[in-house]
Amino acid sequence: MTWQQRIDSALEQRRASGSFRTRLANQQGSGRHLVQDGKRYLNFSSNDYLGISQHGKVITAWQHGAEIYGVGSGGSGHVTGYNEAHQQFEAQLADWLGYPRALLFISGFAANQAVIAALVEKPDRIVADKLSHASLLEAAMHSPAQLRRFAHNDVVSLQNLLAQPIDGQQLVVTEGIFSMDGDAAPLADIAQTTRNANGLLMVDDAHGIGVIGEEGRGSCYQQHIKPDLLVVTFGKAFGASGAAVLCSESMADYLLQFARHLIYSTAMPPAQAYALSAALNVIRGDDSRRSQLNANIARFRAGASQLPLKLMASQTAIQPLIVGENEAAVSLASTLRERGFWLTAIRPPTVPQGTARLRVTLTGSHTFEDIDRLLEAMYDATR
Ligand SMILES: *Cc1c(COP(=O)(O)O)cnc(C)c1O
Repeated sequence: MTWQQRIDSALEQRRASGSFRTRLANQQGSGRHLVQDGKRYLNFSSNDYLGISQHGKVITAWQHGAEIYGVGSGGSGHVTGYNEAHQQFEAQLADWLGYPRALLFISGFAANQAVIAALVEKPDRIVADKLSHASLLEAAMHSPAQLRRFAHNDVVSLQNLLAQPIDGQQLVVTEGIFSMDGDAAPLADIAQTTRNANGLLMVDDAHGIGVIGEEGRGSCYQQHIKPDLLVVTFGKAFGASGAAVLCSESMADYLLQFARHLIYSTAMPPAQAYALSAALNVIRGDDSRRSQLNANIARFRAGASQLPLKLMASQTAIQPLIVGENEAAVSLASTLRERGFWLTAIRPPTVPQGTARLRVTLTGSHTFEDIDRLLEAMYDATR
């Protein structure tokens, strides 16, 4: 098979499966509305949970940061790209989350790849929740260690895998809030089980940070644990992009030696770190966005429980409605789209076969009226 034949055949298979991915350019920001081909939609697919991407103070900070530092960092942090804005934001993160150190990464994907690649060796075992994000599972699959996946949120399954004989070390990987189901991990039990097996615990709290717990400190703080490696990302509740790994002094020094995504990649623009620092001040200081989000979640769940679709046991901003077959999910999404609601149908291979779903994400910028209008359109479309 030639390269071209291989590519054509992969595309053909994707089209045939009904899972062909496309992108459309939004003509507006990432806020409550989305504009496509001149038509305006209410956006129920955004990860901008607190509406911070449009926050005046954060926008001003980004502008101000660009005036002070310019638009780019000019290099890897190991050369000249590490700046006082990065340093201050790292210190602020470490203080907020109660860790000795924080290291900034360009994205959550990069952070997860870097940490796993830097840590594990051939005799080791990575034990990851079955529903972990692609950035974690792919890093684990490409690592020299063996990858075992424990049943979703199942501590007994985790315990059984950890008890199997091994020569090397064990790294346990899970998330605070799962991105496709919106449910929370039993972190206290997972931490205890990992400690009993002398393992290292890595928690990716991409969907919990900023949203859950006091001052938005996330899932781990809320469940009173401090994993060895806490990954937080800034593409969701922080409204921008980037990530950080929170860890001990020695772990941070180790990652600075061996995390190739840090060493061989241009550091985040300092202006962005400056803006993220302003975003963190908003997240810590302004509870009203989290309260509105929580009120929206309660309102949506009360209404959606009347629909002939399976509402998952999620208490978070991610509220999936299981439709089942791919075509049915796509058709429901497109009916809603005609009525002015932007929702995505999530299909296999992103989720298991037969569980195609509408993934509703709620934010603190939605109003009760937005939620009620969506629910009404859903009743009509599924009657
Ligand atoms: C979004 C997400 C990531 C990727 O983070 P980016 O900063 O968007 O690269 C990683 N892990 C989880 C659980 C996520 O939801």
